[in-house]
Amino acid sequence: MISDATDGQVRAVVRVIEELGYRAHPMPGTSRTAIGITGNQGSVDPSHFENLPGVSEAVRVSKPYKLVTLDIRTEKTIVRVGDATIGGDELAIIAGPCAIENRAQAFAVAEAVRRSGAKFFRGGAFKPRTSPYAFQGLGEAGLKILEEIRETYGLKIVTEALDEAGMDLVERYADVIQIGARSMQNFTLLRRAGKSRLPVLLKRGLSATLDEWLLAAEYIMSEGNYQIVLCERGIRTFAQHTRNTLDLSAIPAVRRISHLPVIVDPSHGTGKNYMVTPLARAGVAVGADGLIIEVHDQPDHALCDGAQALTVEQYEQLVSEVRAIHEVIAPAAVS
Ligand code: PEP
Ligand code: MN
Repeated sequence: MISDATDGQVRAVVRVIEELGYRAHPMPGTSRTAIGITGNQGSVDPSHFENLPGVSEAVRVSKPYKLVTLDIRTEKTIVRVGDATIGGDELAIIAGPCAIENRAQAFAVAEAVRRSGAKFFRGGAFKPRTSPYAFQGLGEAGLKILEEIRETYGLKIVTEALDEAGMDLVERYADVIQIGARSMQNFTLLRRAGKSRLPVLLKRGLSATLDEWLLAAEYIMSEGNYQIVLCERGIRTFAQHTRNTLDLSAIPAVRRISHLPVIVDPSHGTGKNYMVTPLARAGVAVGADGLIIEVHDQPDHALCDGAQALTVEQYEQLVSEVRAIHEVIAPAAVS
């Protein structure tokens, strides 16, 4: 739409799209509103829209994904969670333990996360573990601890929903729904997340190409949820020196195609405590909109992912270093 298109003009275009039997996806931006069209088999004649009042141009998107692309929306998406943002000028920091283990552990870490100025607290109540015998998370009891943390520290809660059936419960407690690497192609979960009113943090699958990752985001958007944050968390390669290979080239690659914010997870991306801070620095330097970092008050006793957890002191040092880098590169990252 043109920059001063009225709400009525937007609604009129949406109506025409729906009358043709398609789905309309209005996405307001700071300067103008884009309206995506899905549900079409084959190409749509642009003359249906081109001459409607308020329309600036009708753009054909030839890529496999549509709504995630810069072709549709030229402005970056800023995901808003109350007073916190991901994808705006601020570097978003999401930190916390891999799993909520008990109240004392969660509060000790949350206190440090709050003190660092980060706005988001992470912690799994439902954990996707490789072994069925490993700690699976506290379930709803963990969610209740997360709720208390939100109330006590004002931190926004990022936590994983493992499956479609668990979404209703997680939605009641979370501010951002995490979809884990192992679930990136759980298509029923993606569609369900697309119907959520909460933003979604979508991790890249362990062996997902960029196209597959963006198509997973497209599943969510196609259901009407446009608040998505992509997260590079490392992929499987032949490397033995890390748990995963953190593919930092994915950040500029996503940036070139998509308006969605993208963050880096150097914890799962390396699996090693001593590599987390160097790769966090690199992630910010390469233009990530934020970081997700695992922190534990006692990493040696962690029930999950202890080897990659930072101590509170290491985490505080990381935050001061990445903030300094972000200040230097922020203008370039935006352009
Ligand atoms: C996690 O964030 O603790 C997690 C399980 O991440 P991933 O899905 O990337 O392995
Ligand atoms: Mn973890």
